[in-house]
Amino acid sequence: MKIKDIILREVFDSRGESVLEVGIEDYLGHKFIAQNPYGASRGSNEASVFSCERAKKILNGGLAREIIKKNFGSVRNFDHILFNFDGTARKEKIGGNLALGLSVAFARGLAYERGQLLWELLNEEFFFSRPFRSYPLIFSNLINGGAHADNNLDFQEYIVIVKITGSVKDTIEKLIDFYKKLGILLKKRFSKKELVIGDEGGYSLMFENNFEPIDILGNLIEKERLMSKYGLGLDAAASNFYSNSRYSFEGKRISKKDLYEKYLEYFRKSKFLFSIEDPFNERDIQDFKNLSIELSDKLIIGDDLTTTNSAAILALAKEKAINGVIIKPNQIGSVTESCEAIKVAHENGVKCIISHRSGETEDNFIINLARASGAEGVKIGAPVRERLSKFNELIRTYN
Ligand code: PEP
Ligand code: MG
Repeated sequence: MKIKDIILREVFDSRGESVLEVGIEDYLGHKFIAQNPYGASRGSNEASVFSCERAKKILNGGLAREIIKKNFGSVRNFDHILFNFDGTARKEKIGGNLALGLSVAFARGLAYERGQLLWELLNEEFFFSRPFRSYPLIFSNLINGGAHADNNLDFQEYIVIVKITGSVKDTIEKLIDFYKKLGILLKKRFSKKELVIGDEGGYSLMFENNFEPIDILGNLIEKERLMSKYGLGLDAAASNFYSNSRYSFEGKRISKKDLYEKYLEYFRKSKFLFSIEDPFNERDIQDFKNLSIELSDKLIIGDDLTTTNSAAILALAKEKAINGVIIKPNQIGSVTESCEAIKVAHENGVKCIISHRSGETEDNFIINLARASGAEGVKIGAPVRERLSKFNELIRTYN
């Protein structure tokens, strides 16, 4: 694909935060757009995020010359121009949001030129055209806490993990129904007329303790007779309630040993609890290891400590500190590196959950990445408002 022009624009995500939109134009006048929002709770090794103004300066200061009027035959070749121009681990010279925006917009353009769907192009270029046939699990965050809500929950996300059975559309329809029933139940239980919604569309309320949402969700799964299709997951996002070697938990400052015991208690008490993401502060790898040994039949997922970085994923997989990983393309800043991270994870027995951010737009790249790579999960928030765009893309992409 030969690039005629690049257009940068400032738009806004679902949290009202500024997002860089990148457009690439070909010589026939087609435009290919990418938007890459970021999150409220970020790992410290994520690729840097620059303002639109700064991105424009970088583009005009030399990067555009490397790209415009040039012809690129693969996403990899295109991304290598960005890597060479940047040369830093966290895209500190060009910004992860500019790099990923260019990378995704280019991939869209190349797919169009070749008459392929985006996921087909990625599947062919990065995953040897392997015909992955299974559906991903849907990780849908229905109760929000931590940095995503203004309530007393220390954990960030209470997730239902949904198996796709029958059609994708029917599965999503049932999930929407479950979400609405949960809303009715919470209104009754807490005597509320209206419910506050957190960043990812999940309900945000003051609960009795950090376990109560697990209990409520588990009871509703049973009431709706969804035991064979629904499980539960947590994203503790524990770096956010960690400081000075202690965790702030239900108003107390507890040790990592106490937190570890809490997790064991939660997994003992809820037969539906199946996964936990970022259970400890992102630097406490030994604690991840201990939990992985103790809960060897559960999914222990890295996000803030892995930041979609192949080397980090490899090291943690070898140490058996995680058996699942969140893939967020904007943590690393390119399509090529995101695909490499998935490959490394899969080669080392780690399951991949391709994830949205707490701030979102209608850009559905992540669903295409999931389909292309045979990812075991997609994490896309509650089935409501702006998040529905990803659910709709699931219906389109997995048919
Ligand atoms: C997460 O932590 O997994 C998440 C999706 O939230 P954020 O985008 O705020 O990091
Ligand atoms: Mg997370």
